[in-house]
Parts: sequence; C-alpha cells; structure tokens
Amino acid sequence: MSRIYNFFPGPAALPQEALAAAHDEFFDFEGTGLSLLEMSHRTEAYERVHREATDMVRELLDVPSDYKILWLQGGASLQFSMLPMNVLKNGQSADYVLTDYWSERALTEAQTVARAHIAGSSKQDGYRYIPTDLYVDPCARYLHITHNATIFGTQYHELPKTYGVPIVADMSSDIMWRKVDVRRYGMIYAGAHKNLGPSGATLVIVNEEFLRGAPKNLPSMLRYDVHIENESMYNTPPTFTIAFIGHVLRWIKAQGGLDIIEARNREKARKVYDFIDSSDGFYVNDVAREDRSMMNVVFNMATPELEARFVAEAKMHGFIGLANRGERGGCRISIYNAVGLDAVDSLLNFMADFMVQMHIPQRPFDHTTLAAM
Ligand SMILES: *Cc1c(COP(=O)(O)O)cnc(C)c1O
Repeated sequence: MSRIYNFFPGPAALPQEALAAAHDEFFDFEGTGLSLLEMSHRTEAYERVHREATDMVRELLDVPSDYKILWLQGGASLQFSMLPMNVLKNGQSADYVLTDYWSERALTEAQTVARAHIAGSSKQDGYRYIPTDLYVDPCARYLHITHNATIFGTQYHELPKTYGVPIVADMSSDIMWRKVDVRRYGMIYAGAHKNLGPSGATLVIVNEEFLRGAPKNLPSMLRYDVHIENESMYNTPPTFTIAFIGHVLRWIKAQGGLDIIEARNREKARKVYDFIDSSDGFYVNDVAREDRSMMNVVFNMATPELEARFVAEAKMHGFIGLANRGERGGCRISIYNAVGLDAVDSLLNFMADFMVQMHIPQRPFDHTTLAAM
C-alpha cells in the first residue's frame, strides 16, 4: 500500500499508527464480535472508549478539575453560536479579535444572537499579523480569539492582555500542537478534523464558573449545562470519531507527550520558513515573523499561474493539499502533528527542484538546425 504526502488543511493527515489501530479493531472491537460502528453508545465498551478519550485530553493538556471537557457536534461553526447564546445574557456583550475568515464568521454568528464588537482587526492589512492594539471593553463577557488562523497562516504565540476579561479561543487548527495553560482561558473549542482526528466531533474545554447563570430557555442540544450533565451523551455521540481521537491521543502519549510533539512541530515549521525565506523571493511568506503559524504555512509565488503550476506538479509528485482555497489564495502547507519530518523534507526537496526548473531560461529554438535539414 502506498500513501502519499497529505498537506490538506482539514480533514487532514492522521497518524499512521492511529489508522492502523482503528483498522485492527474495525470488524471486531476488542473481541466483542462487532464493530464499534455497530455498537450502542450505552454499552460498557463504548463508555470506556468515551471516558478514556476525555481522560487523555485532561491528562495531556493538564486540564484543571473545575474545567469540563465536552464532545459536541455541529463543528467549530456551531460553537460560534452556542457560545454567545449560553454566555451573553441581559444585554451583555462580547469582544472579538478579527484575524481571518473564521473569526469574522464567529463575530457574525455572535451578532445574530447578541451584542458583539470588534476589539481589534488586521483585516485592512490582509490579515498578515495578529493585532496587538486592542480595545477590550472591561465589561465584555469574554474576548474571542482565533488561536491559529488556518487560512491566513498566523498564530497567537502570546495571549493578549485583557485585564480580567476571560479569553475564549477557537483552537480548531492548533489544539494539541503543544501544551497550553488552560487556566488562562474561559473556554477553548476545536473542531476535531484538523489536528485531533476525523471530522464529526468538537472538543470543548470550559470553565464551570464561566458558564454560571447560563439561560435555561435554550433548546437542550444548544445548552452546555445539558451536555455537561450527560457527559456528552445527551444524544448519540459520534462514537467512531471519538474512538479515533482516542487513538490519536494514545499516539501523542506514545510519542512522549506534547513537549515532544511541540519540539517536532517547531522543527518542521523552522525548516519550511527557513527554506521559503532563503528562496530569494521565489516563494514568499509575508506574514509578520513573530505571528507566523507553526501549523499552516502560507506562501505566494510571482503569479497565480505559477502557483497553479506548482500545485499541479506537486500533485504529480505525490504532494497534495497545497492550494489555499480560502479567500487568501496562493499556496499553503499544513503541517499538523501527524505530518512527519520526512514529509516536510520530501516536499522541500521538491520545492527546491521546482524553483531551479522554473529559473532555467528556456533555450530559444535554434532555427539553423531547421535550415540544415
Ligand atoms: C476549520 C475551522 C473552523 C470550522 O470548523 P468546522 O468544524 O468545519 O465548523 C473554525 N475555525 C477554525 C480556526 C478553523 O480552522
């Protein structure tokens, strides 16, 4: 079986070991004689799978006991609405930092159900940096940030000062890229299908105090307290996705934990940025250096035609997912946890070859040979 190098932004590459583990138990889950896909979520076997995945999140991210861990559905996109519906009441408002398309969507959804304001934005500069001059309303119920801007290739490496206003972070594309200090957030949420597993589940880590006083007159499926009460089994959870995430988390542990994963991620990103920066402008990453994403490296080339040719030739050589289909355009290399250093090295070799090939001036057609015939 041959696998190709997958640089898609999400759903994205998964650890081979996790795929193999899911494969091994696919038809017969731990000797039960049935697949996990066929199994009731009310079985002891599934409940253990569910609990183990939750416990590993708590262990890997060192989640304090007054934070709840939830597995929800509806993607990160539903959190754009659930968060303000549960947390903003009686005219309270929230502040949003705009760093890309996803934060714009989060703001728009908040504004459809409550009051939400822009605390800062780098939109006028093509989202090439994380804005630091924020106006955070001291009465805001929370400040929402997009931890890693998947499409524009920026990432928070330092949290903004909020003087007591809780931070809520959309970590869909950089959850588990390293440890974070969970205490610094009121809530963290992440769609699974970038750095955590396949699509279908959203991880929510939320401080109980932050949710205090949430309204009860919301549809049950949209209430955090209902999901907390039922340990994310108020309705049928996405059992296979959660089981698979369990395999990914086990893989992270087997690698030596998040410190090792972080070191690897930094090494991969350093290699890619060093290569791009030393390409004499053939490949250009114009994101502010201190805000560069360790997960999604965006770059441009001289013309859109050259970029399209790059993407097509890369695909012929077995490197897929390199076109940035978002509104930013250009190219993007997504180097999540499951993308190995070997994949990065192979891609950079290809990129070096492509650059040389494009720089060789085409030899003009020699008409004298024609005349001699
Ligand atoms: C992909 C992505 C989303 C959307 O996630 P869904 O689970 O598809 O709703 C939201 N925020 C960020 C930062 C993303 O990268």
